[in-house]
Amino acid sequence: MKWPSWLTPKSRRRPAAEPSLTACPTCGREMDRIEKSTMTGYDMRTYRCEHCGKEHVINFGPALWKILSDAREAEEKQEKPNG
Ligand SMILES: [Zn+2]
Repeated sequence: MKWPSWLTPKSRRRPAAEPSLTACPTCGREMDRIEKSTMTGYDMRTYRCEHCGKEHVINFGPALWKILSDAREAEEKQEKPNG
């Protein structure tokens, strides 16, 4: 049974396989995590590709502590009336 194109629900579509963040951009192999740093407020992780012998720093987005810190700050700015 063939569905008209306008009837195809989006949920039926399978999302394309996302490229792994931890795959080497050069050779595509999975890399080993050797370091993690959230000092800058971002979850920066250093991965090393054994195959290429190169290290790649990958940004995983805002660090958890930064998100929590920002949320708390926003909350403190809003004066909540008690009761
Ligand atoms: Zn590689």
